[in-house]
Amino acid sequence: MTDPAPRAARGAAATAASWPAVFMRFSATSDQLVLAAGVFWALAVNRPFFAAALRAHGGAEIRSWTLVIALAVMLASLHVLLAGLVCTRRTVKPVLALMTLVAASALHYMQAYGVVLDPSMLRNVLRTDTAEASELLTWGLALDLALYGALPIAFLAAARVESRPWRKALVMRAALLGGAALALAGSLMWQFQPIASLTRNHREVRYLITPANVLWSVGSVVAADARGAAQPRQAIGLDAAPGPGWAAQTRPRLMVVVVGETARGANWGLNGYARQTTPQLARLQAEGVLVNFSDMTACGTSTEVSLPCMFAPVGRRDYDEARIRGSESLLHVLARAGAKVTWRDNQAGCKGVCDGLPIEFVSAASAPGLCQGDRCWDEGLLRGLDERLQHAKGVAVLVLHMLGNHGPSYFRRYPSTFERFRPTCREDDLSRCTTEQIVNAYDNAILYTDHVLASLIATLDANAAKVDSALVFASDHGESLGEKGLFLHGIPFAIAPREQTHVPMVMWWSSGFGRSAGLDADCMRARALQPASHDHLFHTLLGLLDVRTALYEPAWDASGGCRKNRPAQ
Ligand SMILES: [Zn+2]
Repeated sequence: MTDPAPRAARGAAATAASWPAVFMRFSATSDQLVLAAGVFWALAVNRPFFAAALRAHGGAEIRSWTLVIALAVMLASLHVLLAGLVCTRRTVKPVLALMTLVAASALHYMQAYGVVLDPSMLRNVLRTDTAEASELLTWGLALDLALYGALPIAFLAAARVESRPWRKALVMRAALLGGAALALAGSLMWQFQPIASLTRNHREVRYLITPANVLWSVGSVVAADARGAAQPRQAIGLDAAPGPGWAAQTRPRLMVVVVGETARGANWGLNGYARQTTPQLARLQAEGVLVNFSDMTACGTSTEVSLPCMFAPVGRRDYDEARIRGSESLLHVLARAGAKVTWRDNQAGCKGVCDGLPIEFVSAASAPGLCQGDRCWDEGLLRGLDERLQHAKGVAVLVLHMLGNHGPSYFRRYPSTFERFRPTCREDDLSRCTTEQIVNAYDNAILYTDHVLASLIATLDANAAKVDSALVFASDHGESLGEKGLFLHGIPFAIAPREQTHVPMVMWWSSGFGRSAGLDADCMRARALQPASHDHLFHTLLGLLDVRTALYEPAWDASGGCRKNRPAQ
């Protein structure tokens, strides 16, 4: 901690009797406080940044030390510039205190989970609901907040901010900002070569610069949302129409799309994981009625990115977040063709994918006995499904959004009867558990997802004489369970490890659905061994539901080559 008050403690001794020496009242100018805060953030809360920069630079030679010094000067002057632009004599204390709290929390999550605080991660954080947030409030966070937040803030609180004539204050502030700008430019020029290669080859490292990363990311999310709010969602698939199969159909049809949460391909029993985490689905696969896509890639590494992408005509292959967020989704296209679309949610909503369409939330009222606090187990999604099938008419699409393996509290995601792999991590704070305990809890949650999907299929199958139904399950993204020191998910896609991008996907359909769609099961099984991605979902679902639109791209329909009545477009 740097002392921001060389001219401290004029007449402060009298008020300081009850304070520890370091928190004695002292006087300082707002410029001195800003400078002290800049140096403190640079040195105290940027360890992940320095570690990543040195790793990228490779090695601990002498030149690395000059780089560290240059980076420290750069960080301090950058933050002095940021804070110096908004801090006045009156706002300096609340602004610096808030930035310090933000920095302390950011440091905690970057260190505990290896996350990078870029705009998409911030979008996740800002959309987190209270139940999710409560699981992230741990003792580890409290300790970091105390050390890197409360302590410096107590120091800040002890300062008496000096008042100066406004002309003098303006000149001093200009000098501070000018000095910071010079120091920033000087440090960049001094170590231009390594810093340039760092920013070029490891772009994600800049999102470790704390607290600027949070300020920048919040700013860009707010700006993007403001742009989005200013214009209505762009309609897509205005030409969507039912295909000829609809008129020939005598029975109701139901497509159930299950959006999984944080299930990763590596721990999916059907993909050959050493543990059988999907025993019930494996039985269905052995009976030849379930198809498992073993090489499936997600569009993103977070719900905020993946969910909208999974329902977009063009996803990762030409990724454009603004276009995806600004446009309607597959669900609107299907509704336009005449399907009755419902989104049923056991998580944090549909992220705009179902805007304007019916949405239902699983709650203690709709799923009694399956909820604890404000969280419900995923079987809650199946409540009332039987009745829905009894009254099915026409073509319906039901999206079930699971809570799945939402971390870090995997042990809360399944009833105790699914606690098969032991010992488990029973903490919200993963750092208090061994990797084995974490993986056990994670695998039990997969085991429960297996049960939920198999129960869903059993219900659809029991009604197969009345309703032609099909199910497509795909997880939104994977998860890191300690590999490469990473936990959870949300690493920028370009550098994300396979654990976060490789996800499970399965398909099931009733014999009536298979007949009317002309689906060849052997062909689908062979197709499922080939690589697939979230980009396929939009076109595969259009194909399976026989909806005609110019948006349909046969090359991205994973069922296309296996259907006899393939759309002509
Ligand atoms: Zn997710």
